[in-house]
Amino acid sequence: MKQPTAAILTAGCRLNQSESDALRHRLALQGVAVVESPDEADTVYINTCTVTGQADRSSNQLIRRACRVERRPRVVVLGCLAERAPEQVRQIAGVSEVWSNARKQAEISGVTPAPGRSRAILKVQDGCDRRCSYCIVSRLRGEPKSIPVSEVRAQFEWLLAEGFHEVVLTGLNLGTYRDGEIGLAGLLRSLLAVCHDARIRLASLEPDTIGDALVATIADTRVCAHFHLPLQSGDDAVLASMNRRYRAEDFVRLVGRIIKARPDANIGADVIVGFPGETEASFRATRQFVADLPLGYLHVFSFSSRPGLGQPREEPVRQQAARERVAELRAFSDHRRQEYQARFVGTIRPAVVETARMALTDNYLRLSLTCAARLEPRTLSSLRIGRDAEVLTGSAC
Ligand code: SF4
Repeated sequence: MKQPTAAILTAGCRLNQSESDALRHRLALQGVAVVESPDEADTVYINTCTVTGQADRSSNQLIRRACRVERRPRVVVLGCLAERAPEQVRQIAGVSEVWSNARKQAEISGVTPAPGRSRAILKVQDGCDRRCSYCIVSRLRGEPKSIPVSEVRAQFEWLLAEGFHEVVLTGLNLGTYRDGEIGLAGLLRSLLAVCHDARIRLASLEPDTIGDALVATIADTRVCAHFHLPLQSGDDAVLASMNRRYRAEDFVRLVGRIIKARPDANIGADVIVGFPGETEASFRATRQFVADLPLGYLHVFSFSSRPGLGQPREEPVRQQAARERVAELRAFSDHRRQEYQARFVGTIRPAVVETARMALTDNYLRLSLTCAARLEPRTLSSLRIGRDAEVLTGSAC
């Protein structure tokens, strides 16, 4: 009998990627061959995202692409777009099934992710009850829940035994991880106790969830010197209307504490531009705020109103003004990225080999490999960082 085949297409965040990796493992355990191309698959799973209007468009494109495949695979749509707008998805000609987020979690419960890439992503937490006013995802993923330490540790050890040298811990609100008395710092310590020649990277952390215990733990150099913090705005009035739980001054102190623990850290921040009520003065305040901080890069998003969140009370920002602000902050981010990179040219950093040509350092610098000898993907190497025009290079020392 012919072996059944399936392809998994994923949009959106690391949480979705980790869940797709778990689905890949579950299918493999059931004897299904997981293939790359939907053209070769009997079933195509599409794990969607709906965080912004752009995410909706990308997810819809993936769905339509799968539905156009000539051999007419079974098309299963899951993820946050499927949760938010199941009827809309069901009406797309060719869609066979739509899974809710509850169904997705039931299908992958207890399954270790089996990544199809060189770095593993391990989900340790899901859900959030913060209700930031721009965030639809927390409404779709439900209340906070954490995977017990013993289960995370078993999955972590399995990934190390499979040859992964970097595991990214992820969650919807990772910093709120809790198993009884154990928070994220305790979980991290428990994983470090069995982590000898590998490293742990932390995915995005909400600024108000990083306490002293976590800062002390990230001083361990097996934790990647890379921290991503959703700042969103440097203006207190905008932060308040976003329903964020910190103010600009708190963020400054936090960055100072992280840099003290890890002076070489690459600290990145998310910024939402064009949030209703953001005046030219509040944008200028944000622009100055990020310029004054030792940030290595920004991820800049344009505010996107989401069905299901209600209409904001404040004035919307004109599209043209929002576009110009996004462009300005992205240009600033490029400049900062280059400044940060320049600090490390000529130094030696540990890097995980991603492909035959690329590696990623602990402080999130992507290197184009120039070694004569082939380095095996997933391995951890000490690489000397160089520069060739705009490209950072890595050579074995
Ligand atoms: S803390 Fe993060 S996940 Fe939770 S509501 Fe705010 S933006 Fe959404």
